[in-house]
Amino acid sequence: MQGSLGILGGTFDPVHFGHLRLAQEVAGALALNEVRFIPGGTPPHRATPRTSAEHRVAMVKLAIADNPMFHIDERETRRGGLSYTFDTLTELRSEVGAAAPLVLIMGADAFSAFDTWHRWRDIFGLAHIAVAHRPGTALADIKSEALSVEFAQRRVDDAAIIAGAPAGAIVVVPITALDISATAIREAIQAKRNARYLTPAAVIQYIEYNHLFLKEIS
Ligand code: ATP
Repeated sequence: MQGSLGILGGTFDPVHFGHLRLAQEVAGALALNEVRFIPGGTPPHRATPRTSAEHRVAMVKLAIADNPMFHIDERETRRGGLSYTFDTLTELRSEVGAAAPLVLIMGADAFSAFDTWHRWRDIFGLAHIAVAHRPGTALADIKSEALSVEFAQRRVDDAAIIAGAPAGAIVVVPITALDISATAIREAIQAKRNARYLTPAAVIQYIEYNHLFLKEIS
């Protein structure tokens, strides 16, 4: 049986302990071999994410440097513009082969809007989805009928099912609830409040050195 690869996409503006615990706990629960952090590209004409891809990538690298299971994958920021997760997963699938389990990791807030993603149903043909609880979003409150149906049909509780198939299941992974968001970190820094202990010290140092997040949030 091949090892499973976890994928955590995000804006990481900035990366924080919510992301790191999410990756760590899902990797532990599903016996993943590796988690790839994939920062999204910068949209050409929009204000969000506010920070350049270069800075967001640098912060992820600092945050994961001491964890041999975590790696950064820069394909989306190198591609430029916005990338669809479907396209990224299609590439990853061709790289790992047809049999290796791919696990797309996301918080409940992201999952509750999953049916708005480009070719979302086709994503189940490429990867499993691991959903973790996130303070502020209850999975029971999923509003979309189509997503609720898919969730009910695909949900499994046994990690062995994830390890034994390449794609197609949804598993809910209970993790330590950390009510940390990149938005709250940006707001804290902008308001001159200290953001220590919300993200690793190396990330705080990088933010301070580069004067990130000090400008008015639009
Ligand atoms: P922002 O506040 O700018 O919207 P964010 O903190 O939600 O950012 P993202 O980079 O958008 O961070 O999140 C990437 C992924 O990590 C998403 O799937 C999101 O649900 C998940 N995630 C982020 N923070 C947490 C957290 N504290 N607990 C669980 N999941 C989280």
